[in-house]
Amino acid sequence: MRTVFTIGEALIDFIPHQKGGGLKEVDSFRKAAGGAPANVACAVAKLGGRSSFIGKLGADAFGDFLVETMEQAGVDTRYVFRTSEANTALAFVSLKADGNREFSFYRNPSADMLLEESEIAGEWFGEGDILHFCSVDLIEAPVKYAHRKAIALAKAAGAVVSFDPNVRLALWPDRESCRQTILEFLPHSHIVKISDEELAYITGHADEQTAIDSLFVGDVQHVVYTRGPEGAVWYARDFSVSVPGQRVAAIDTTGAGDAFVGSLLSRLAEEPAFARGIDEASAREMLAFANKAAAITVTRTGAIDSLPTMGEIERFK
Ligand code: ATP
Repeated sequence: MRTVFTIGEALIDFIPHQKGGGLKEVDSFRKAAGGAPANVACAVAKLGGRSSFIGKLGADAFGDFLVETMEQAGVDTRYVFRTSEANTALAFVSLKADGNREFSFYRNPSADMLLEESEIAGEWFGEGDILHFCSVDLIEAPVKYAHRKAIALAKAAGAVVSFDPNVRLALWPDRESCRQTILEFLPHSHIVKISDEELAYITGHADEQTAIDSLFVGDVQHVVYTRGPEGAVWYARDFSVSVPGQRVAAIDTTGAGDAFVGSLLSRLAEEPAFARGIDEASAREMLAFANKAAAITVTRTGAIDSLPTMGEIERFK
């Protein structure tokens, strides 16, 4: 089994608990570990995969809580750096009247943004390992250089690079610079996961097929396109396969995309899949597996809390 490395942020979500009343008055807050890269790392580990998180947290109680949460899920945290120069990232989540969540972030800057190029080492990565990175919409120096170095070193070691732009459009007043950052990282990835909400915005093409085709730049060999309740499509340079969405009673879609990509990568890191290469049959099998994992996730609240186990996916019809 190969290791899935995930690089990026881990943060604490404060989620209000409301028994009624106005949107500004809440009864209490629930504290939950989150951040897309941390969610993905936990998804891989919970399914029995070898998962390692690379990032930086504050030398504070929130950082301790995140390390504890990831370790409980089975994530290797030896490449988690700590700093007293900034606090662990915090996100305040508001529940909108329609039940959807709205995130507002406080960064000043937060510790995850201080991960440095010099902290990344080539000997971490091996042939066939996977490096996944996501949410580059908010990244700037120095963490941008750390990401670049990790990608270059992972590739030099023969690892597969996976990218989920996971863009939080609502947080971005300057959408063009966010888009440029995504386009800068895109050609350096082998597998890209993109959602229907992001496709036109990132590519600039309204026509779906033209938009998908435009993602095959540089090293990109596979594009996994998720379509919420409608399922997902796997596009390779010479085939495409799709799965319809699972019919479930969705109550909270937070982290659905992270559960999807984490479960897919956990499968890709297994020896047989790796040895076979990604042909049409293995793409179909991985897609179906990830589609089930994500469908289970949306039937429960939370992100890391709602990730499924292997037994739950196997029992899912
Ligand atoms: P998010 O940002 O909400 O974590 P995303 O936008 O990255 O997710 P989506 O396309 O919304 O990605 O969802 C990812 C996958 O989760 C889908 O391809 C599907 O497998 C599953 N999924 C999402 N919503 C539902 C739903 N309502 N019912 C069943 N499956 C769902």
